This record gives sequence, C-alpha cells and structure tokens, in this order.
Amino acid sequence: MDIVVNADTFTSLGSVLPAGDVVVEKAITIEMAHRLQYHEGKCRNIHGHSWSIKIAVSGKPTEDIHSPKDGMVADFYILKRALTCIEELFDHSITLASSDPLADVLYQQGGFVVAQQTQWWGTTLVNDFGRINLIPPTPTSENLVRLWGQMLAHNLPGLEIAYVSVKETASSEATWIPNK
Ligand SMILES: [Zn+2]
Repeated sequence: MDIVVNADTFTSLGSVLPAGDVVVEKAITIEMAHRLQYHEGKCRNIHGHSWSIKIAVSGKPTEDIHSPKDGMVADFYILKRALTCIEELFDHSITLASSDPLADVLYQQGGFVVAQQTQWWGTTLVNDFGRINLIPPTPTSENLVRLWGQMLAHNLPGLEIAYVSVKETASSEATWIPNK
C-alpha cells in the first residue's frame, strides 16, 4: 500500500506525541565581580565569577501548523533576548550591596555619578574607571537569582517560568522557583 503524504498527514502528527508539559531552557554566561560585605571568609574580598544564568519555561507546545510558534513552548530567541537585558546591565561590572561601606567610599572619593536608577536592580554608578551596580540586597547567588528572576518574569509576560538558576562556580548553584 502506498503511503500518501499530504497536508493532513502533517497536521495530524501532533496526535502521535504524548501529553504533558515540556520544559525549555536557555542560558547565558556573564563575567561579574562582587563581594559579600559581612562574610567571615574569602567572599568578603572583591572577586569575580563566570555566572551562568539559566531560565526554564514550561508549558504545552503550540499546536497550530500555521503559527510561527508551532511546536514551541517559547521561542529560544525570546528567552535569549530577555537574558540579554541582564547581560547588558551586569556583564563585566562590579555588583555590591547598596549598604556596602565600600560603595560609599567609591561614590564619595571616586567621582562616580549615577548613570541609571530603577526599582529592579538599584543604581548603576559610572566614572572613568568603569561601572558599579548597587543592588538593595547582599549580592549572594540566592539574592541575585531572585533579582534576575524578577527581571526575567517582567520581560516575559505570559510565559510560565519553571525556575531560574544561577551558577557562580561549577559546583555552586542557586535556583529560584516562582510562587514557592
Ligand atoms: Zn563570589
């Protein structure tokens, strides 16, 4: 018997796939320095990490053969674009807590000026030496993943974020799960 391939063949392919949600993930890596001002160990020193930031979105893939989103939970391009907002703000910068005495010293003596100030991440200071981001909480992985997760959620309305994770080393990772 000949197999007939036509438009109906392709539009019915979805019925052969199992039910259930699919989780899609997108990650970027940025370079950023920070310090934990009251840490009792080495994290008190200014030091840097390659931060791997990952977003995971869950849902049922679109089933509409005429849609550009057919077969997708979320377009990887859209996820990358949202992650790029974090990259533009924090890549190759120093991030300190707003309450860090070092931030005050730099601000008072380094000739820094306020470049940006928002509810999301706090304040960006710049001078000839570069940029420093001041955020309200201590910049631990746990706080950064919640801050960045909030920014991603704001930039991706309508998508269900399963989790956002931040890896500051190969073996140290923090994960934010919305609404839990
Ligand atoms: Zn660190």
